[in-house]
Amino acid sequence: MRALALLAAAACAAAQTYPVTQGKTYKFEKIADGIYYATGGGGSNNVVVVNDADVLLVDDGTTPTAARAFIADVKTLTSKPIRYVVNTHFHYDHTDGNSVFPPDVDIIGHEFVRHAILDFDVLHREPFITSQARMPAAERDTIKPTPPNVTYSSKMILNKGPREIQLLFLGRGHTAGDTVVFLPRERIVATGDLMESRLAYMGDAYFDEWVTTLENLKKLDFATVLPGHGAPFSDKGLITAFQAYLSDLVKQGTALKKQGVSADDAAKRVDLTAHAKAFPQIQGPGADIRGMRRLYTWLDEK
Ligand SMILES: [Zn+2]
Repeated sequence: MRALALLAAAACAAAQTYPVTQGKTYKFEKIADGIYYATGGGGSNNVVVVNDADVLLVDDGTTPTAARAFIADVKTLTSKPIRYVVNTHFHYDHTDGNSVFPPDVDIIGHEFVRHAILDFDVLHREPFITSQARMPAAERDTIKPTPPNVTYSSKMILNKGPREIQLLFLGRGHTAGDTVVFLPRERIVATGDLMESRLAYMGDAYFDEWVTTLENLKKLDFATVLPGHGAPFSDKGLITAFQAYLSDLVKQGTALKKQGVSADDAAKRVDLTAHAKAFPQIQGPGADIRGMRRLYTWLDEK
């Protein structure tokens, strides 16, 4: 009896499997007709949307080399031309492939993404700095941060034959300009790093707004989330669990700051192990130091 119950629980928890097309670099999981989840490029997980006459990509990887490999592999799925790239946010691992696309490709992002790539010194700040340590210098030198050439502020809709593609800014969160790509007919939403299936980087976060923005996300009628990192999931409970993590981090970080504990020490002292069931990457006390430094700055700015 008990074994059966455990088996049933395991079956529920198991990730859904999708048909796979393996490219040279990227693995594509077919989520629905014309919708593919791309992993294996070493940076963000991307989405390929094959429309009746063209292709839209969500995010394009960490380097021009990765983006070229992605484009080559997309050709194994379709011969239709790539006409659109959506940047879910400005971080390097989602946008540093932008420079390889010809000017007739619309690179679309929230207006903050353009501002950040043009005005922040993105190659000399986090999260790029930490990633540089892992990147060969020859590859790093090819990176040319390239902003979106089409921007929007709250909502943009592309109607491609029978398909509607909604680009939505639901509020600040992971950054000040996160886009979710919502396909209402297919009930699929690509969330970038606003909602991953694991804990996201928090170095540019707006913590309490993030919780509210995730509430807005939950109001969309979707059945499948395609996150910027991790794996596809369906359970809105994971979003609630992440909201709880964020709230707990803010509560503990705020208390430690009030006690005069430094951000770096607070990053060691917070204990979020209560959230390890939803986020197994939590192996013990502590949180990412860049996220805690940001939390302290954000508390000062509030
Ligand atoms: Zn990010």
